[in-house]
Amino acid sequence: MNTLPATLSSPNRTIKEVRDMCHDGILVNAANLLDGLTTATYSALRDEVGEERVKNNAMFRCGQCDQPVYIHGGDGATDDGHSAYFSHYGTNGVECSWRSGEKLRSQGAAQFGGHQEGREHKLAKQMLADVLRCDPNVTDIELEKRYAIGRSGRRPDVSANYKGQPAAFELQLARMPLQTMIEREAFYRKLGMRLIWVTTPSNAHNLSTQSFRDLYFSAGGRIFAVDETCLGRSRATSQLQLLELTLKPFVLSPYPVFNRWDRCFVGPAVIFMPEAERHAQGIRRYGDVFNQQVSSQAAQTVASINSLAMEKKDLRAVERDWNALARRLGGRDLSLSVASNVVSVLWLLHAVEALNAAEPQMLAMKQRDVAQAALDVLRSRDGLHWLGLVELLCRTNPRVSAALETHIPKMLNMLRASPKKALPYHAYHRHMLSALHPWLAFYLLAKAPSRKKDMRAS
Ligand SMILES: [Zn+2]
Repeated sequence: MNTLPATLSSPNRTIKEVRDMCHDGILVNAANLLDGLTTATYSALRDEVGEERVKNNAMFRCGQCDQPVYIHGGDGATDDGHSAYFSHYGTNGVECSWRSGEKLRSQGAAQFGGHQEGREHKLAKQMLADVLRCDPNVTDIELEKRYAIGRSGRRPDVSANYKGQPAAFELQLARMPLQTMIEREAFYRKLGMRLIWVTTPSNAHNLSTQSFRDLYFSAGGRIFAVDETCLGRSRATSQLQLLELTLKPFVLSPYPVFNRWDRCFVGPAVIFMPEAERHAQGIRRYGDVFNQQVSSQAAQTVASINSLAMEKKDLRAVERDWNALARRLGGRDLSLSVASNVVSVLWLLHAVEALNAAEPQMLAMKQRDVAQAALDVLRSRDGLHWLGLVELLCRTNPRVSAALETHIPKMLNMLRASPKKALPYHAYHRHMLSALHPWLAFYLLAKAPSRKKDMRAS
């Protein structure tokens, strides 16, 4: 029964190859690049492309006409890179046979163009202002005050100062296109203002849409919400309090690992936390929560597998324990994992951990170890299928990226350009890889909870 799932069918992408401008403009197989992205890395990459776009840089160019392209979310069945595709930006008169009539569809533009100022939005805005008024450290609270840079201006739903620090609050209830969100962020950043996105708990059914995913994945799986309970609490404590919804993993056999929204009140320390810190903290916490749940059920198993894996020893000695844990998580059994070369992958992940822990004088050596371990994985028969994981490590870890781009750029670029179909082994093996290396859990397991899964856990 423990067989690999049939490969999800990918959309028939019109743009087959793109030039990756971050890697010397090499021609990359679009299918393999996108299919290799998990929910978290997919959102992060979309975000990055958008950020660069605001600065007039193209991260990817069409392999045919060399015009800038962006990543379209697609409204597919999956929320990772599987249903995504590359698309040209608007029309600029350049002919391209890969253009095939597609347009720059701004997702949700209809709900968004002026009509979204609904009743709910108005109420939430008032409520947020009332919450802010409870805190004596918050001053200059205004609704829809106009801020301008040159001739372009914006009116944040609510603006205020916290201990002299200016902040803009935008309510995200409708589906707002990613590019709009990024442009707003850039606008307020230029003004030296923090931009804080807030939704309402009653809007939670929208949280699985792509525009919300873009928001909370770039904040480590976290999003603020406001409702009347925040008002009561802020009044009682004379301190600004919002709800924070946080993605949380659950290990609850017999269900495979699933995600739910956890909610708790947070004060100014979290609300005004620098974005990068909030992001990193969210990722770390997700891994910690996952690790606690796995450890409470199978601490000994994890320890004994890790000690064998670190020495690259035969894992069959722990086959029973491995299989028991894998069953609990919904993961793959040992024989299937070994057949997919998981042993070399675990070796690589240990090398990455050693690199992250390395003192400066050991850095060069540990980088070479990581490059060698990655080479062992990528050279093997299934190397192409592990490219997604190696890319994930590069995207999320500057030390790994430096190591691999220095030592094995040719190998990487050869696989990136490969016309062969890569299978997402990182997804097939996500449960056990996350259990053994919880720092990967957010990238491999975090997903917007589906409402069905939400129900069965409650
Ligand atoms: Zn083109």
